[in-house]
Amino acid sequence: MIGEIYQDYSKWMVKKFKLMRLRNHLNKREASKYKNFNREMPKIIQTQTIASCNFNCSWCPANKHKDLYNNGMGKLMDEKLFKKIVRDIPKDFSGDFLPFLMNEPLLDKRLPELIRFARKNLPEAHIRINTNGSLLTRQNIIEFIDAGANRIAISDYTQKKTIKKRILGLELAEDYSKKLKFWWDKNPQYEKTGINIHNRAGNVPSFPIPETPLRLFCNKPFIELPIGWDGSVVLCCQDWKFKIIMGDAKKENILKIWKNSKYDEIRKNLMNFNRDMPLCRYCDFCGFGIK
Ligand code: SF4
Ligand code: SF4
Repeated sequence: MIGEIYQDYSKWMVKKFKLMRLRNHLNKREASKYKNFNREMPKIIQTQTIASCNFNCSWCPANKHKDLYNNGMGKLMDEKLFKKIVRDIPKDFSGDFLPFLMNEPLLDKRLPELIRFARKNLPEAHIRINTNGSLLTRQNIIEFIDAGANRIAISDYTQKKTIKKRILGLELAEDYSKKLKFWWDKNPQYEKTGINIHNRAGNVPSFPIPETPLRLFCNKPFIELPIGWDGSVVLCCQDWKFKIIMGDAKKENILKIWKNSKYDEIRKNLMNFNRDMPLCRYCDFCGFGIK
């Protein structure tokens, strides 16, 4: 009996060791891509138009803390601020413009109009909505796409793909349906597969926090510029409590913030596989790939 337990334990340790070696190898490879990092422009700009989510997924900090979003639960971004952020971005920006951040975007009823404004000012941008799909209807899908969204990505977290089935049942015209993308299609049992499960920089209650900061690179501050509902530019999309403020989009041009010395310092540490910094020291994100 003890022999069997030991054998199982050894197998598990070998598997874990192999996975860690693979993760470290891929992490180093990812870091090498950013050696000549050009800090002129982020690839992804995320704007939180509403600080709220109507779900309470177990792997996510949403609705688990009272002090999320700089204590702004349920608040809307001022429309003037949204427009100012869009105008800060050069017209030829061809990266991703995402009108959501750590929230369910469809809770904001202004969304079609906000997308329309972004599209008019950013004709080359890839505008995408990521949603849990619960509030999608035939009408709003058409509105989002007509307003200029390139893609609606639907994370169907239901075990029986009920959201996907409902949306496919809407029988949209091809022009609309080809812009829908369903995530976790092959993994409806999201929680059980463990795909993409990490501790969101220590913000998911009961998820383990590394005893010492991981010696890993992270690509987030090299690619994404996340802006909260109140204009706070936060470190990354795991900063659910707005702990690390990189700048204030209300007062400064967002691209000036992206190039500030605080960002430079954090990037330098991450390039040296050093996460011994506020927030990053609690984080077990592997440093690359999907969020
Ligand atoms: S994972 Fe998405 S849908 Fe689920 S609680 Fe978090 S933000 Fe909401
Ligand atoms: S290590 Fe974690 S907390 Fe730090 S920038 Fe990356 S995702 Fe964010």
